[in-house]
Amino acid sequence: MAKSHKIGIMGGTFDPIHAGHLITAEAVRDAMGLATVLFIPAATPPHKLDQSVTPARHRLLMTELAVCSNPHFRVSDIELRRKGPSYTIDTIHELQQIYPAGTEFYFFTGADAINDLATWHEADKLLAECHFITATRQGTVLDTAGLRARFGAAGMAHIHHIETPQLEISSTAIRERIQRGQSIRYLVPQAVQEYIEKEGLYR
Ligand code: ATP
Ligand code: MG
Repeated sequence: MAKSHKIGIMGGTFDPIHAGHLITAEAVRDAMGLATVLFIPAATPPHKLDQSVTPARHRLLMTELAVCSNPHFRVSDIELRRKGPSYTIDTIHELQQIYPAGTEFYFFTGADAINDLATWHEADKLLAECHFITATRQGTVLDTAGLRARFGAAGMAHIHHIETPQLEISSTAIRERIQRGQSIRYLVPQAVQEYIEKEGLYR
């Protein structure tokens, strides 16, 4: 039997991608023995329709610049190419067409999001078809009891929790720092910082 292949998925707006995303993705990859982590920039997410999100071409290119030197990291534009809202289940189904049968998908998401898994589109099907990895951020606790009550032992077998370094870095804070004229050095990779300056983003 072919060796099973584990692919991690890091979805996000990546507006811009930052050290918190990269350090967490590498920690998850290492802890879970993932062959690859796919960074998938989201089309304008439903909950951010009211805000201005940077055009996708910039977010995609910054993500490429940030991950290109890591042999285990890749970027996928599947959610940007899709029309309409992006549901995780659709992304998983598309990836199943691309990767060989037997590939296991590990979707990374914050504990806050996973606690709300019951509200996700086709949550039961999603949990049957892929795994979730959560890394607890400060102030968030995984609602193990609630998740078990809703999804049972079989569902819980697809929810993995790992400890990752706590990094108080967010895209929002980076955009605010740029607005205030403060340094973002080391908060984003140097190539991303230079791209932001060259294109005059977030000013
Ligand atoms: P924003 O401030 O615009 O909401 P963000 O920093 O939260 O941006 P997203 O693109 O929304 O970044 O996040 C994508 C994924 O990365 C989410 O699952 C989010 O929980 C996770 N993430 C973001 N920042 C960190 C961090 N510092 N450490 C660990 N995970 C993070
Ligand atoms: Mg966020």
